Amino acid sequence: MKEDLIQKTAQAVFRSKKVVAFTGAGISVESGIPDFRGAGGLWEKFDPAEYATIEAFHANPQKVWTMLMEMGNLLESSKPNPAHTALAQLEKMGHVRSVITQNIDHLHQDAGNTRVIEYHGSHKRLVCLTCGQQYAKEEVNLDALPPLCRCKGVLKPTVIFFGEPIPTGAHLQAMEEARDCEVMLVIGTSAVVSPACDIPVLAKRAGAAIVEVNLEETQLTRYVSDWILQGSASQILQSVLDGVAGLRKT
Ligand code: NAD
Repeated sequence: MKEDLIQKTAQAVFRSKKVVAFTGAGISVESGIPDFRGAGGLWEKFDPAEYATIEAFHANPQKVWTMLMEMGNLLESSKPNPAHTALAQLEKMGHVRSVITQNIDHLHQDAGNTRVIEYHGSHKRLVCLTCGQQYAKEEVNLDALPPLCRCKGVLKPTVIFFGEPIPTGAHLQAMEEARDCEVMLVIGTSAVVSPACDIPVLAKRAGAAIVEVNLEETQLTRYVSDWILQGSASQILQSVLDGVAGLRKT
């Protein structure tokens, strides 16, 4: 059954030059970065409800920066896994047009994807909450927390905290990609964080086939997805890539 669906996915991807991948924390779990909902890791130590809200950041930036430093160390040492590299290969082959990611870990770019929309920002860039100046993380002195801008304002990663709006540019680009794709691969997301969870719905309404890749069913599975490939993202995407490569030879 799953083999048939992998072949069906490979054919859909092979036939299209307008495939968009929409990814969530699950695609990076096999790189060693825990997702929000899985057991273990960072989020048992740092409850997102306590640390990942903009109110928490304003109330105590130093405390939140302590979590950000630990998370930063984990993200800096993580490498793309075969799911990321399969998407990068599919872009090189001309099938995957873009990746819309909810992740902040930069692993899609590290794998080689060039059109990546970071819907929830990036841990690699910091922004001043007073004057809006942005910095690359490596330009900033992180010895004393919270780090400060030249204007003495507090710096925060461009990562979107709960309670913050999505940056307009990323939102508009994501909408455009969703409205104009033929196949959307929805990989490793529980699709409960709003408004990101509307992106596959928008693609579906615009006529795209929605293919989910996840260890388990989600709230998209029954009403939005055309089919689900249930299992590990790295194994499934490598198999889809092999299928597409096979079709290109015939
Ligand atoms: P989530 O934690 O809510 O859900 C992860 C989903 O991935 C689940 O449905 C799970 O079944 C699935 N999954 C886990 N391991 C998988 C695997 N190996 N193969 C296939 N599927 C797998 O994640 P979300 O929906 O992205 O929402 C969480 C929010 O937190 C997002 O905003 C996200 O950006 C952020 N976040 C980011 C990172 C990161 O940058 N790597 C990590 C944790 C959380």
